[in-house]
Amino acid sequence: MNKLSFLDDELFGLEKKGLYRTLRTCSKFKSSKLVLDEKELINFSSNDYLGLAGDPVLREAACDAIEKYGCSSTASRLMCGNLALNEELEKRIAGFKRTEAALIFSSGYMANIGVISALMGRQDVIFADKDNHASLVDGCILSRAKLIRYPHKNIKSLERILKDAGKYSRRLIVTDSLFSMDGDIAPLPEIIELANTYSCMVMIDDAHATGVLGRTGRGSAEYFDIPEEAIDIHMGTFGKALGSFGAYVAGSRKLKELLINKARSFIFSTALPPSVIGSVIAAISILEMDNTRIKMLNKNAGYFRNQLQKEGFNILDTKSQIIPLIVGGNEKAIQLSRFLSQNGIFALAIRPPTVPQNTARIRFSITAVHSKEELSYAIEIIKKAGKKFGITQ
Ligand code: PMP
Repeated sequence: MNKLSFLDDELFGLEKKGLYRTLRTCSKFKSSKLVLDEKELINFSSNDYLGLAGDPVLREAACDAIEKYGCSSTASRLMCGNLALNEELEKRIAGFKRTEAALIFSSGYMANIGVISALMGRQDVIFADKDNHASLVDGCILSRAKLIRYPHKNIKSLERILKDAGKYSRRLIVTDSLFSMDGDIAPLPEIIELANTYSCMVMIDDAHATGVLGRTGRGSAEYFDIPEEAIDIHMGTFGKALGSFGAYVAGSRKLKELLINKARSFIFSTALPPSVIGSVIAAISILEMDNTRIKMLNKNAGYFRNQLQKEGFNILDTKSQIIPLIVGGNEKAIQLSRFLSQNGIFALAIRPPTVPQNTARIRFSITAVHSKEELSYAIEIIKKAGKKFGITQ
């Protein structure tokens, strides 16, 4: 018997449910465009919200860092990989986030699994929004703490659950701040109030909010005008609005100290390469200098949201640059995405398990570098698609 025959069965099962995924080859990015399978498309799937990924200042900073240090950090931070650049970036992040300290991780996924499993254990309890990113869910599972998921953004449910969970040692509420699939924002002031009442720590994932939310892009705390120290653990990534790669955790000096000692994804992994760190430092300098890109992003996203709403599309409660167009069935979402692609628009169908059953959607990711013409063109094509696929009247 072929011991790998289960692979065929599983793949067939995925295909039957419309959940089969394939990789497509992207040969070029330029601002709001990409070349995919040799065809140029307007890109509505990138997380490069501020258009910094191709910025000459970031490129130059990356090259400078390579000139100075080479292409690799050669080891983990606790071995010999702790280049001075790491510490420079951590100081800059702490300044940007207005926290005592910050620690860099090699990716957002690694930050989330590392932090949660370092802080929480079998005796502890975690309260997590049901729509949290997979990396937060995996961090919770890895920690072995009791995991209680509350309905999306439902403060009343969260309070009920908190009241009933008295027997645990440490308690943590963890939530995305700007949700990556719905584009909506967690009610942080209410969450923090509950956390104070029920003695819970609060951890937020600002992956899609860093460089985006708040007047100067400092994230969800700035957006809500919440003092940074009201949130115990701020996590965010460099691979989205900051145009590079990697992640940070910002908070107290003691938190940083503990993570250096206990976060296994930090301890047992090679430090970020110098080029990446150099480019992130450059991105932060750009953000600290002016917020023109953030204003442009908000203007573009506002325009796109309003136009879709006016046409009667269901875009949930998005308040941001992430705009979900709800379609329902998996097959219909794939067909719609294909139609958009045939008409020069690259926007992906997002299906379960990434999103809940029957909420398959096209996820539009708006950036500061989309032109008004590109946005209007996309709206026209989406309107046509809405009628063709029976999504709008
Ligand atoms: N958190 C959220 C909310 C995300 O969307 C992502 C990435 N899509 C991550 C964490 C993981 O970040 P990274 O891509 O740097 O691993």
